[in-house]
Amino acid sequence: MLKFGKMPAARRCRSRRLLPAALALLAAFLLLRPVLKANLGDVHLVLAVFWLAPLGWLLGTWGGLAMGAAMALPLYLTGYRGADLATLAFGAVAVGGASGWIRHRTDLYRFRERALRFLGKVGLLAAQARTAGELLEGAAQAAVTEGGYLLAMIWDRVPGGFRPRVWRIADPRFAIEEDGNRLVIRRDGHPALTLDLEVLDWSKTAAGQALDHQKAVITDARRMRNYAFGAAARVLGYRTAIAVPIAARDEVVGALAVTHPEPARFAGEEAELVREVGALLGSALERLELRERLRSQAITDALTGLLNRRGFLEWGQATLRSARERGRPMALLYLDLDRFKEVNDTRGHAAGDRLLLAVAQRLAQTTRSRDLLARLGGDEFAALIEADRDGAIAAAKRVRKALAQPVLLNGETVQVSASVGVALFPTDAENVEELLRKGDLAMYRAKQERLGIALFNPQDDRALKGRVALEHGLRKALADGAIRAYFQPVVDLENGRVVYLEALARWQAPPSSFIPLAEEIGLIADLDRHVLELALAQLRALSATDPALAVGVNLSPRTLNLEGLPARIEDLLRKHGLPPERLVIEITEAALLSPRGEQNLRELHNLGTRLAIDDFGTGYASLERLADLAFDYLKVPRTFIRELPSSRTRAAVVAGIGHLARHLGVRGIAEGVESTEEEKQLLKMGYTLAQGYRYAPAMPPEELEGWLARFPERLKRSPP
Ligand code: C2E
Ligand code: CA
Ligand code: CA
Repeated sequence: MLKFGKMPAARRCRSRRLLPAALALLAAFLLLRPVLKANLGDVHLVLAVFWLAPLGWLLGTWGGLAMGAAMALPLYLTGYRGADLATLAFGAVAVGGASGWIRHRTDLYRFRERALRFLGKVGLLAAQARTAGELLEGAAQAAVTEGGYLLAMIWDRVPGGFRPRVWRIADPRFAIEEDGNRLVIRRDGHPALTLDLEVLDWSKTAAGQALDHQKAVITDARRMRNYAFGAAARVLGYRTAIAVPIAARDEVVGALAVTHPEPARFAGEEAELVREVGALLGSALERLELRERLRSQAITDALTGLLNRRGFLEWGQATLRSARERGRPMALLYLDLDRFKEVNDTRGHAAGDRLLLAVAQRLAQTTRSRDLLARLGGDEFAALIEADRDGAIAAAKRVRKALAQPVLLNGETVQVSASVGVALFPTDAENVEELLRKGDLAMYRAKQERLGIALFNPQDDRALKGRVALEHGLRKALADGAIRAYFQPVVDLENGRVVYLEALARWQAPPSSFIPLAEEIGLIADLDRHVLELALAQLRALSATDPALAVGVNLSPRTLNLEGLPARIEDLLRKHGLPPERLVIEITEAALLSPRGEQNLRELHNLGTRLAIDDFGTGYASLERLADLAFDYLKVPRTFIRELPSSRTRAAVVAGIGHLARHLGVRGIAEGVESTEEEKQLLKMGYTLAQGYRYAPAMPPEELEGWLARFPERLKRSPP
């Protein structure tokens, strides 16, 4: 908080300057007195006021009081007595003191007003500036325009002193220039003074003293002995310099100095003001530095120091823009190491990391410094270079040749090779994403056909729609975490509560195509695990909204058969701090066909997770087995529900499953409920749990909170 203390230290010096003027006025008064008295009569009081008001104004409160008292004395000595004197003396003192006091208050008021404007401006800058430069430039400008200072300088701290960083001068005739280690002050374009910063005695400057004392320091340029900027003060015409250290993260990073043409009138207040501005700048710099660091972390790859995918997209876009303006062709090289996984698996992650680092270095050595390089993830790299088709092929060959040199890992040499896909700008694609996608497709062909290098060709794009590309894309999506989970609620129609949110995998292709594919190519367990992680993280995020909420995940038979699955799930639950009963595991009847699967299910049940049999009635589970297993829900598939209103046999089946469920002591869930008609029939059959578009589709995580808040209300309002 800014406090305005009292400290009229500089007043004395002012009084000294004004004393001769006051004495002259007094002499004039005494001289003129007989004339005035002859013409105006006894109007001493008027006279006293007439003379004392400007005097008191000039001298300030105490000076005015003293002057008033001094005025009364000669009047008394020159023949005024008694009551007259009392009035006169009192009047003189009162007028002198009051006018001094008024002036003091007006000045203080003006100072406070400008201090508030200055502080307000800097506060705004501190909150809004996006870079340190913007912040400091703005603050220096505000010191001159809002703060009313003659000169504002912000110095960067360097060993043994400071370096000028930003400056502003109110007087437009002057300019300051930095020339190596010197500071040149120009007046009307001509050099007026040159200061050698290297030989400057910093302990004789305001900034240096502020650093020494770790607080705001006010210097009087004329009174401080050997003031190092004395010559500058004379040229620029300033008298007072106020400096304050700027500290960010407990470390002095610079200094702020402002100067004023007059001696400091409110030294305490000035010091407080500048100190406050310095503190604001320090904390804003801290914030900006942190943001800068986070930003650079967000766009670079921690292992290799190259850009990451996000950084590559950001910078690549800017690079392409400038290439377009200059009419230059660009090329994207998409690199994927061959057999990197082997190295990683056989020699360990540390060796794998070192290999990636070596690849990054070689990539940097074989390209120009202005080329953009990135590690896109895993063992994939990209380079955006200025080259046409032939230049790109030549560059790709150079890179491959450099990579072919053996790498030494733990005393053993490892030979790596890379497949390179090339996409051209602007022929193949106009933006970075598209270039990456096409470069990737070309790389994939280069790898499949063992070509080493392949240029993008539109056939690759057509292949994307084929299975090969889908498979390639799915592997990549899983490795990059590009598969998302959407959530569809299972609701209780009796009380409008959400029983659980079922997590459903989402990707660019529909689940009906990529789930079976994932099963086929052995990726389903990875996918299920990924969705499980997403679901648990989501549940924890929603715990604040509804602490009793649960999530459901689909586990394919292959996943359920994994050895050690219950322990892994237990670990995950513990990691997220969630009790097992808040997880519902949905499995299909097919999972019941394997002994390991059944064993895992029993363990999961013992652990306390809930179990649901999905798509009940479409598989071949023996009812006997089912009765044996402890589970919680039976899900009736949409195919049955859809035909409820039209088919009596379907209705009989659904009703039958309902009976069975009740008999087994579990609850039925009707899946894919879309209409009120279906809902009505289901309620009649005794189903109270349902899922379907009538309540909600599978929703992205960001929509869940809003839906959860609105749902009970909506269920109440919708017609039964
Ligand atoms: P599912 O487990 O039976 O999921 C229900 C499917 O029905 C979902 O399709 C859902 O979006 C859809 N649906 C829900 N309400 C309605 C409705 O009112 N009308 C209609 N017409 N459809 C509705 P989705 O998301 O396409 O999932 C298809 C299947 O893919 C799922 O069937 C599930 O077997 C499988 N699946 C999805 N995610 C995963 C996963 O993470 N792991 C495994 N193993 N399988 C998954
Ligand atoms: Ca399901
Ligand atoms: Ca289902």
